[in-house]
Amino acid sequence: MSKYWSRIAQSMEPYIPGEQPKDKKYIKLNTNENPYPPSPKVLESLRAAADPSLRLYPDPTCDELRTQIGRFYSLRKENVFLGNGSDEVLAFCFLAFFNPEKPILFPDVTYSFYPVYAQLFKINYESVPLDDHFSLPVERFLTKNGGVIFPNPNAPTGKYLSLDHVKTILVHNPDSVVIIDEAYIDFGGASAVSLMRDFPNLLVVQTFSKSRSLAGLRIGFALGHEDLIAGLDRVKNSFNSYTLDRLALIGAREAIKDEAYFHETRNKIIQTREKVSAHLRKLGFQVVPSQANFIFATHAQVKANALFQHLRDRGVLVRYFNKPRIDNYLRITIGTDAEMAAFLQKAAEIISFLGS
Ligand SMILES: *Cc1c(COP(=O)(O)O)cnc(C)c1O
Repeated sequence: MSKYWSRIAQSMEPYIPGEQPKDKKYIKLNTNENPYPPSPKVLESLRAAADPSLRLYPDPTCDELRTQIGRFYSLRKENVFLGNGSDEVLAFCFLAFFNPEKPILFPDVTYSFYPVYAQLFKINYESVPLDDHFSLPVERFLTKNGGVIFPNPNAPTGKYLSLDHVKTILVHNPDSVVIIDEAYIDFGGASAVSLMRDFPNLLVVQTFSKSRSLAGLRIGFALGHEDLIAGLDRVKNSFNSYTLDRLALIGAREAIKDEAYFHETRNKIIQTREKVSAHLRKLGFQVVPSQANFIFATHAQVKANALFQHLRDRGVLVRYFNKPRIDNYLRITIGTDAEMAAFLQKAAEIISFLGS
């Protein structure tokens, strides 16, 4: 604490990202990165783009990439907003669509950046408890509110809410913006983008960090009615005109164009997820059905924090949240088949000596 900090800086409880350790090499299953490299076409384009043009600012309106993303989803570039990772897009959403006095709604077990942004931008919120199976109680999102935001599939549970339910929430909230954070949608769920034509209050947020293997390049985007996109533009242009750099714009363009690589890598992750889920159940875990690139699981005999520590000692990093309701769960990112085999073997060893 410093006397020079503003009241906001003093009172904030910042988001804590998953660790990126530098002490040794771990099997890293803790931050939902993609285990496969970016498309070779992305890497080639980035090498070619490292040229003297880097002295120039990038395109502040990102027209070409917005057009490409629009094409992928059969939308116009006016329906696409880009940001430096979807975390930044989400921050702009809080400023563009939510007001301090009207509480927004999000689940109690969810992406922990939402309460951080609410605090930072002084937006009141109500956290709505998920049921005992971590399902979203749709009826609780139909009451008067200042906005709705949740991930689908949810984080850190991986649980997917069907589009019928998403639609019910949209129908009952004509006066507030409903933000669906689809960071993990490419791993099995159906995107709410298909509902966009009917709902001017729907904003879908996605990222290149997970399904397109580009967490290091920082590219996120929002899809919605052009009036919502224009609101985001107003906020962005009051903040930083150049949120995406020249390399990010080029890498993202090549990633969205390489559909074959995208389908191949996400299908591999889905297959591995299903195999690992079955294997974990055999080891005595209760596994939440996942449509994401991670698994959320709890063990009947062995406490999650003990498993977390023992796995870490054996060079495997998973995510443990010391939070109400989920402090006996681990979130395990899906790695390559070889990484997951190593993880499963170590988990089995730990359970056999701790669980007996
Ligand atoms: C990973 C994640 C994001 C952020 O991704 P960026 O790397 O900032 O694009 C947003 N929402 C959820 C739920 C996530 O898990």
